[in-house]
Amino acid sequence: MNSPTSTTYHTMSWESDEETRMAPAPFNNPWADTIVRTMDNVDFHVFRWMLEDASPVFASMFTSPRPSKARNLRSPVVSTASPPDSGDSSGEGSAAASPAPISISETSRTLETLLRPYYPFPSPPTFTSFDDAQPVLLAAYKLQLTRIAPTLAQAALPHIKQNPLRAYAFALRYGMEDLARLAAHEFLAVENPDIPADSEELEDMTVRQYRRLVVYRRECAAALQDLIGPTNMSLKKESEYSGRVSEWLPKYSGRVSEWLPKDTVWTWFGCRSCVKGHSGACPRECTQHGTASWFRAHWGRIGDRLRARPSPDAIEDPRLLSQALSSVRCDACNEVAYTQLLRLMELLAEEIERRFAQVPLQVL
Ligand SMILES: [Zn+2]
Ligand SMILES: [Zn+2]
Repeated sequence: MNSPTSTTYHTMSWESDEETRMAPAPFNNPWADTIVRTMDNVDFHVFRWMLEDASPVFASMFTSPRPSKARNLRSPVVSTASPPDSGDSSGEGSAAASPAPISISETSRTLETLLRPYYPFPSPPTFTSFDDAQPVLLAAYKLQLTRIAPTLAQAALPHIKQNPLRAYAFALRYGMEDLARLAAHEFLAVENPDIPADSEELEDMTVRQYRRLVVYRRECAAALQDLIGPTNMSLKKESEYSGRVSEWLPKYSGRVSEWLPKDTVWTWFGCRSCVKGHSGACPRECTQHGTASWFRAHWGRIGDRLRARPSPDAIEDPRLLSQALSSVRCDACNEVAYTQLLRLMELLAEEIERRFAQVPLQVL
């Protein structure tokens, strides 16, 4: 079994004389056949099949041979304590009365966040900070709750974005590959990667691991170069690169036409007043005459943004769009520019991600 590392987990033995509390609904179901006791002494009454279904770690614990006095089940995460004063009952048969609680080393807050999504009508998990998200992400990883892992990562994303390097170092510390990849992706959006924000987690990170991240960022930037061009472009070069947009931009069939009126063309290629040399004699999908000057300037600004931060986040700024729109001087373009530029940004973000997906990153 590739069971995750157990760095912070200790198998706990409970003296069971501490006061325990009942978890809130729906974890107080009297029909539930299993009790999970958290480190802060809260009892979660849950169904065994649900735990088994959600977590291979729980499942293997249930299927491993149970000693008659369920005391010392070996697992990196879980231990069972014998039920208080269970007498000589064999445990299995009299489970309805008082099943032996399974003690785990997470807090009730963490367990609640982990179990909620498995119940009907879950509200999406939220975290107040990365510190808040850490124990939940870690426990989900250790219990191998793979189905909710993406939901948890999504909930933690705003806090990961605040300091991706910290999240990256945290992920590496525990061997969490998916989180490390997500953090590396967010590291692309960092404004000043040369002076990364400090955090306690950096303590464990090797220079080699950091180097890999820096190389990854550089390679992602390189993957965009044939689209946006190198730095210090002359105006002539800029037109060369904005013209190259036609190489990946879908033509007026398929998805784009679902979105735009049937006979539309991208106006920066097709406008007869803005595109020099383009005329009525041209075929409808002509891209031979380059692009409108307002679009070249727009593309130049997109390039500047992406060279500073090779990330779709860099072009999400609505000011980019309003700046482009304010420079459109022609009625024909004005009519469609907003819709088309918006669509262009969506397609560009997809194209960026498609290119980044080709860039290798060794995390572990
Ligand atoms: Zn033309
Ligand atoms: Zn025009």
